[in-house]
Amino acid sequence: MGDLNTAPAPIRAFHIMAKPAGAICNLDCKYCYFLSKEMMYPGSRFRMADELLETFVKQYIEAQKVPEMTFAWQGGEPTLMGLDFFKRVIHYQQKHAKPGLTIHNALQTNSTLLDDWCRFFKEHNFLIGISLDGAQAALSR
Ligand code: SF4
Repeated sequence: MGDLNTAPAPIRAFHIMAKPAGAICNLDCKYCYFLSKEMMYPGSRFRMADELLETFVKQYIEAQKVPEMTFAWQGGEPTLMGLDFFKRVIHYQQKHAKPGLTIHNALQTNSTLLDDWCRFFKEHNFLIGISLDGAQAALSR
């Protein structure tokens, strides 16, 4: 049995799902449970500020002692933040990454706003989850 005083520090791994546009979405599916969360933040712009983005990326990396980690982006609709927001995500991840750390990104989207995003997703190896809510929203009208 090992000595507790000399045991290596535990690896701390956890997962956060970031919602940079909060509960805002460009669709309005009548079954959506999440859009009403908007009312919990009166006066909010529902846009993650650039300073907060860098702080989040830095602290998420620093808080975990793991060889690889995943940033998960969801909403609402995260692509409402625009492609430049996610270019800054990559910039801050590269800026704050520790040597040997592999960073992954996963993004869940209704895909209706994607146009010239795919090259960026491919270049940075994003895992993309596409929900079919757009079709459901259209059918429900
Ligand atoms: S696309 Fe998703 S987040 Fe947007 S309204 Fe529909 S269920 Fe809600």
